[in-house]
Amino acid sequence: MAGPMQAVNISQGSTVSHVICRICHEGDRLIPLISPCACSGSVGTIHQVCLEKWLSTVNKDDCELCGRKFLVHKNPKSITRWLLRSPFSDAHRNIIGDTICFFILTPMSLISAYLCVLGAVNHSDVVGGCASVVLLSLALFLVLVYTAWVIVTIRFQIKWILTWRKENQTVQLTQVDQADIV
Ligand SMILES: [Zn+2]
Ligand SMILES: [Zn+2]
Repeated sequence: MAGPMQAVNISQGSTVSHVICRICHEGDRLIPLISPCACSGSVGTIHQVCLEKWLSTVNKDDCELCGRKFLVHKNPKSITRWLLRSPFSDAHRNIIGDTICFFILTPMSLISAYLCVLGAVNHSDVVGGCASVVLLSLALFLVLVYTAWVIVTIRFQIKWILTWRKENQTVQLTQVDQADIV
């Protein structure tokens, strides 16, 4: 309990304690301060919760001043919660646009391809042979274009999700030594 004692002693002599968190500038009255890296002086102390919040925001695991690496555990945030709670963005527009396209293009492509195959079967006699080949080619073309669109869209969305998960993680310190507590 060295922290609170120190703060009390300092505040008796002065109205301002110099032992403050370098992020929120509050003292250790409510939350103990720690000194988890090689930084010292006015930037040497910090609240664990403030440090974790800052590391989560910048998605780092080291001190920006002294460079010491912290032992951390990273948890990806919930992408669903982010999509539901954050303001409408390009990501929302892309997901909604792709979903609408999927539900419109899927039946349209399949029905068109089916009708082409049906037409090709009906023109499979010698006279309609040429039309049959054209219709079968058209059916194949429709299926190929649709499949290519699905693959490109899924790849784009997976890439976006992986990037988002990498950039949006909750960082928690896994080890705070007793010696780090101010
Ligand atoms: Zn703080
Ligand atoms: Zn440091």
